[in-house]
Amino acid sequence: MSIMKEIYQTLSRKYRPQNFQSITGQEAIVKTLKNALRLKRISHAYLFCGSRGTGKTTLARVFAKALHCSHLQEDQEPCNHCESCQNISLGRSLDILEIDGASHRGIDDIRQINETVAYAASSGKYKIYIIDEVHMLTKEAFNALLKTLEEPPEKVVFFFATTEPHKVPATILSRCQRFDLHRLSMELIVEKLSRIAKDLEINVDTDGLKLIAHAAEGSLRDAESLFDQLICYAENNLSVELIRAHLGSLPKETFFSLDKAIHEENYSFALELTETIFSSGKDLGYFVEELLEHFRLILITKLHPKDSSLHFLSKKDLEQYEKNASLYTKEQCIYFLDFLLNFLQEAQKTPFKRITLEALILHLIQNRNRITLPGLIQKLSLLEKSLHKDAKETALQEPALVNTPQQEETLQADKKNVQEAIEKVDILLSKQEEKTVVVDTMKQADLAAPPQKENKPNAMQLNKYETLLRFAAVELEGTINKDPRN
Ligand SMILES: [Zn+2]
Repeated sequence: MSIMKEIYQTLSRKYRPQNFQSITGQEAIVKTLKNALRLKRISHAYLFCGSRGTGKTTLARVFAKALHCSHLQEDQEPCNHCESCQNISLGRSLDILEIDGASHRGIDDIRQINETVAYAASSGKYKIYIIDEVHMLTKEAFNALLKTLEEPPEKVVFFFATTEPHKVPATILSRCQRFDLHRLSMELIVEKLSRIAKDLEINVDTDGLKLIAHAAEGSLRDAESLFDQLICYAENNLSVELIRAHLGSLPKETFFSLDKAIHEENYSFALELTETIFSSGKDLGYFVEELLEHFRLILITKLHPKDSSLHFLSKKDLEQYEKNASLYTKEQCIYFLDFLLNFLQEAQKTPFKRITLEALILHLIQNRNRITLPGLIQKLSLLEKSLHKDAKETALQEPALVNTPQQEETLQADKKNVQEAIEKVDILLSKQEEKTVVVDTMKQADLAAPPQKENKPNAMQLNKYETLLRFAAVELEGTINKDPRN
């Protein structure tokens, strides 16, 4: 059967669950609701909380259907055949009122509800009110609603759905049975999408569906809308490349090449990559988000290779991630994430400039040479051992060469920082367990040079010592300096 021949209905409507059994991923809640039906312990108010597209109103509708069904099955599933079930499926039931709390948020809207609750349901069963986005109601509207919830007429059930339960007043919350729907796992979304694909005879492989599910971030409705859009675009043949391009993502190979460029300190790659991104008209913020995702995946591959975040990757990409993760240290990944998160905030403000992008990529490549604190401490410790006892004092007393007025100005402040840094390094050295040297700016041989016999240490060594201490000062203070590009 081809999708084009039917009356068009969005996928999320067309494949909306009509019974408990077909609701995806909320087993515990479904079990509780079915028990309530079986034991006939129906509360007056239910609150479904959860992020968008997790099935809050769907649950409410199926529950309402079960409450009304004339042939409720033994497993508490609505029959979907009786008049009541069909009316509810088509949204024609007079006893079920759906209200959008976002657009009907005033006291008058709630007053109208209050006026009707006293009338019995036309079917003689329950009168049901489903209020979506209930947190949007005004304070007055909540107060009016509370009146009804305090003394609800028999056979009236309220279903509230919200993405922001913390905005619902405590007085309302305490009168509801609350259910928290969790985001759907990628596996469940992929499963549902592949069922839809099969039904619509659409050619798409699991890697493609994984990309869609990943982009939907746990929202089944988002995944279905995206899938719908892709089907409109490419009809029934959806390749992974096409999906990736449609999502606006760069091919993974681009990021793998960046890993290589960083490893090899290939600066010209920054210019090539800038050219590619700039000419494709991609948004700078989006690219930075993709970079963040990339380094996050590298870090996860290093620290927690079984993490579910990696499940959306194809086998080939996963293998490449495992390979590339060895090109970075944990500290480097964390630094990149930190740097990019800061950069992202600025990227929103600055208009897209080619030079901004170039500078960003150059910075990443250059950071292979960044000295990390543990590395620095180890170097200092080696150096300290190799120098004369008086070295610390001498280094402080003899000012280093001053090249610019700016350096002169900061020298005095630096001295104080260096003094403090020495103390901190001493403390850290006694605590620090991790002694990874990330970057080899100085040869170990240099560091391990035997101490001079005279009292005055070798001038070159002192210079290095001074430089290192300055680094230490900056590093130790701060975290001081929140701008990671300094
Ligand atoms: Zn029925």
